[in-house]
Amino acid sequence: MAGATLIRQNMLRQRTIQRSISTKGVGLHSGRRVDITLRPAAPDTGIVFHRVDLPEVVDLPAQANQVGDTRMASVLQQGNVRVSTVEHLMSALAGLGIDNLHIDLTAEEVPIMDGSAGTFVYLLRSAGLQEQAAPKKFLRVLKTVEVREGEGDALKWARLEPYDGYAFSFSIDFHHPAIDSTANFAEVDFATDSYVKTIARARTFGFASEVEALRAAGLARGGSLDNAIVMDEYRVLNSDGLRYEDEFVKHKILDAIGDLYLIGKPLVARYVACKSGHALNNKLARELLARQDAWEIVSYESAATAPKAFGQEWKFA
Ligand SMILES: [Zn+2]
Repeated sequence: MAGATLIRQNMLRQRTIQRSISTKGVGLHSGRRVDITLRPAAPDTGIVFHRVDLPEVVDLPAQANQVGDTRMASVLQQGNVRVSTVEHLMSALAGLGIDNLHIDLTAEEVPIMDGSAGTFVYLLRSAGLQEQAAPKKFLRVLKTVEVREGEGDALKWARLEPYDGYAFSFSIDFHHPAIDSTANFAEVDFATDSYVKTIARARTFGFASEVEALRAAGLARGGSLDNAIVMDEYRVLNSDGLRYEDEFVKHKILDAIGDLYLIGKPLVARYVACKSGHALNNKLARELLARQDAWEIVSYESAATAPKAFGQEWKFA
């Protein structure tokens, strides 16, 4: 059969969703109301955002080299057209192993929902996951790639290193009593840890003292205690406290998973970072893609030969 992709029975396959599903919400930064529709997409489409509110629909593929603004969020940009705050939805898509999806938006920002990836996981599972007749392609890291910023106390860094699986180590240091009283370091390995259970529900966080300045800069206008952990100088203001003991550092891992999924394929690698954020994560993604000797594209003949994180039980999900 000319042109047809041969797929052997047990190969790890690409995924989309079974049917379209919609919801609405508000943008964390813009404060604008937005409708979002997730639609199944053909094999090898990747994740593509569509601004359907414009006179002509603009398509924005979820790719690291399309990221413009990284202040407080990862923003896809094409000319003047933006899709802001893609990281939590991208994280949920990575966590559920979804390769192909169309995402229609009626405004410039993905809704913040509850501030975590939990609502998106629920939505995607409600739509049902669909395996497709095409081998799943992974990007396997062969050489360590590292990016750094700042010096001394202000040093931040992030790196990807070869690893036969998918794992994260993250250190934070906010010099804030409410955060310092929780773990400043977390490590997850999706060979044994479940994304949905250990990461997906960690919420974004912010400081009440910064709200005014952020709003003046056009940021955090939709932020509230319903979609973020908010702290004053000393403590968490949300009446029901934290969802995980180490929710802050877990959210940084959630963000990193979403930012790295803009590489376009699931990674086979270990990510290690200290005080990284959207800007540095994007720099790391671009640096990796530019270093073509540092990675290769692989598929797996069966769950038995794939790294545990992506194998039979799909621990990552
Ligand atoms: Zn986040």
